Amino acid sequence: MHHHRAVDLIEQQHREQPFCAACGAPTITIARHGAIWLECSTLGETKSPLRRLFSLDSLAGHTRDVIIDTDFEKVA
Ligand SMILES: [Zn+2]
Repeated sequence: MHHHRAVDLIEQQHREQPFCAACGAPTITIARHGAIWLECSTLGETKSPLRRLFSLDSLAGHTRDVIIDTDFEKVA
């Protein structure tokens, strides 16, 4: 897969789910564990105790999807 196709896929996924299904926060795309994830922006953030408590309270429902496995791009 060419790099620009991966970017297209990431952008497509982000367009289709711009907000977390659980809390409505914007989703973000991040690289982790050799994959690209579309993820609720509150996951992994510890900006405030209030945010953290809320995240724990509804953790199961937060958007966190693997968009694409990037292992194939390690040569890039
Ligand atoms: Zn969320």
